[in-house]
Amino acid sequence: MNKLFYVSLLALLSAGFFNAGSHTAKAINNEAGRAIMAVVAHPDDELLMGALLSHYATRGVKVHVVVATNGALGQTDFFKVPEGKTLAEIRRGEMSCSGNVLGLEKPIWLGLPDQLLATEGKLQSQIDLLRYKIDSLFQLYKPNAMLTFGAAGMTGHPDHRLIGNVVTEVFESKSWPWKPKLFYPALPTGSINDKSWATYLTVDSSHLTVRIGLDSIDYARLGQAYQCHKSQYRESVRIKLPLFMKRVQKGQVMLRPFSSTGPLKNSLF
Ligand SMILES: [Zn+2]
Repeated sequence: MNKLFYVSLLALLSAGFFNAGSHTAKAINNEAGRAIMAVVAHPDDELLMGALLSHYATRGVKVHVVVATNGALGQTDFFKVPEGKTLAEIRRGEMSCSGNVLGLEKPIWLGLPDQLLATEGKLQSQIDLLRYKIDSLFQLYKPNAMLTFGAAGMTGHPDHRLIGNVVTEVFESKSWPWKPKLFYPALPTGSINDKSWATYLTVDSSHLTVRIGLDSIDYARLGQAYQCHKSQYRESVRIKLPLFMKRVQKGQVMLRPFSSTGPLKNSLF
């Protein structure tokens, strides 16, 4: 290699001419040192965004998952542990196992009762407590990106809808000095052809303007994480569900950003 060619090559490299490599390096530099906080309702909801969480965790981002309820009412017909404290303890262990597989920070438990005591008429006081706890956690961890459920909660579960709503309420209630962003992961409408998964509620892709490409390893970890939640999914479902996610997402997670940036307007139209 003659000297002139060598010098030219160096100049091109330092100018970022070879885009793919420098682009990736830049993306990773932007990610290391950042923090994500995902706020979910139950111990196993992390799976609904698990491949994405694993993706960032492996790139040096601190990923915190906040679990609002203890999941004590998550009794299933195949796992012979009734509703109650023992089941909540088991689910705590399952969540920790899943968090380890996905590379997450230790789960943050808010310890609220499953279904937020809606049946006992204590829903309002539970919502107030939830709002206070989420606000405190935002201030303590200062996440750069927050994730939670959108309006339909991905599965339509009332707890999911409620948690997403309270996180949004806290987020929009003030101007956070470190300028965090809020996103709602979702499956795009029309992506679910298999009727057995029709319980998933979707969002039209025109609203899902943030799209993050994932790797096979992210889905492999998701598959392992599903294996942790033995109280919630039969063995066959623990295998099928991560494959379903991978198939529907087609290698990218789609998210709806909460956005209020841009110029002020004086019309609805
Ligand atoms: Zn859930």
